[in-house]
Amino acid sequence: MAKTPQDVLRMIEEQDIKIIDLKFIDMPGIWQHCSFHRSLIDESSFTEGVAFDGSSIRGWKAINASDMAMVPDPDTAWIDPFMEVPTLSMICSIVEPRTNEPYDRCPRVIAKKAVEFLASTGLGDTAFFGPEPEFFMFDSVEYDQTMNSSYYKVDSAEGLWNTGRTEAGGNLGYKIRNKQGYFPVPPLDSFQDIRTEMLLTMADCGVPIEKHHHEVATGGQAELGIKFGKLIEAADYVMTYKYVVKNVARRYGKTVTFMPKPIFGDNGTGMHTHQSIWKDGQPMFAGDKYAGLSQMALHYIGGLLKHAPALLAITNPTTNSYKRLVPGFEAPVNLAYSQGNRSASIRIPLSGTNPKAKRLEFRCPDPTCNPYLAFAAMLMAGIDGIKNQIDPGEPLDVDIYELSPEELAKVPSAPGSLMESLENLKNDHDFLLAGGVFTEDFINTWITYKLNNEAIPMNIRPHPYEFSLY
Ligand code: GLU
Ligand code: MG
Ligand code: MG
Repeated sequence: MAKTPQDVLRMIEEQDIKIIDLKFIDMPGIWQHCSFHRSLIDESSFTEGVAFDGSSIRGWKAINASDMAMVPDPDTAWIDPFMEVPTLSMICSIVEPRTNEPYDRCPRVIAKKAVEFLASTGLGDTAFFGPEPEFFMFDSVEYDQTMNSSYYKVDSAEGLWNTGRTEAGGNLGYKIRNKQGYFPVPPLDSFQDIRTEMLLTMADCGVPIEKHHHEVATGGQAELGIKFGKLIEAADYVMTYKYVVKNVARRYGKTVTFMPKPIFGDNGTGMHTHQSIWKDGQPMFAGDKYAGLSQMALHYIGGLLKHAPALLAITNPTTNSYKRLVPGFEAPVNLAYSQGNRSASIRIPLSGTNPKAKRLEFRCPDPTCNPYLAFAAMLMAGIDGIKNQIDPGEPLDVDIYELSPEELAKVPSAPGSLMESLENLKNDHDFLLAGGVFTEDFINTWITYKLNNEAIPMNIRPHPYEFSLY
């Protein structure tokens, strides 16, 4: 049952909460927050919002028009497990002060518009998203090593970084080797307790939890399994996930990174995203076509594949994202779909006979994305596919990494850089503008921000590996 403003106000009274911490997501996808004394939060806060200055928030307002208000969502209330003083946390959407109009550069507002757009098409009333964010945990010494120039030397047998060990061996102290982290028991896996604490803490913050495990890469790569949710709910879960994981790691003297490819030569970090559309309680993706999908689901796949070159500018939005999308590390490189095939960018999980479990998994996204924007954009690509009956072509039921160059040439690839995907987004974004979900202003701001702050500055810097090469 969804919590109401009255429930939250009662919680504040009963649990003697001193501080209300309001959080919102900026354009690149990072939580920002401001804390208020309990006396400042009342019923009107949930309708009119709480005023703040939005001028210093990346990608938002100019200093001369910077007043904004954040409206907390009572359903996202939880008591912050990391604060000594009783603190209640809530996630907010942004509105214009006075008019109370939703702010069209607020990612949570864009996500809400995408959900409303789906309903307006009559294709469905609910879009479910099941994100699978992975991450690495480093301790400070290991982390510093990645900055050491010897790290970039091509000095191992395979021409890969050899995790600092010589071929002669030496005592590894149960250190997991590259690509061997999935998933031996302790003492090789020395991250059991920390992941358990992360998982249980997340449950205290309202995230429905399922499981945790070490991931394939060395360095404490991990995945905590959470249950799918409705689009906005699922994006809220991702933000809470990141907050909890980072703060628990800090207690253990670790640093978490969601960078898609922190270690050359080892698996990267993805955020595969399962998705399906439902209508009147019925799963619209279940049917009698390929892999038990409906025609609607196949068209949705057609939309995702068609727009993927542009979509990745939102789902894989960092320069580092494209270092993950290379062959050999369980990350997708080619734009194709398949049942059960983990080398394809869209996988149809074998879900038994229950039509309610029928869904597709888009494997490109990584957790540097802003989940509200990424889920909204994927849904918009899928809806475009359904509306225009885009044929996804034949499935590719082979290991794509093993295809010959001639065969591979027939399969389109994901973009190779952020620069490339931003260029694609510039040329292909009408599917995002449908129903006014994304605005032209937002797309332009996004492209300019990403080019000027990330893609271009990265390109013009000498890279440590260039010192090794030249
Ligand atoms: N870490 C892999 C990736 O970059 C995925 C591993 C998995 O299948 O969970 O997508
Ligand atoms: Mg995984
Ligand atoms: Mg997966």
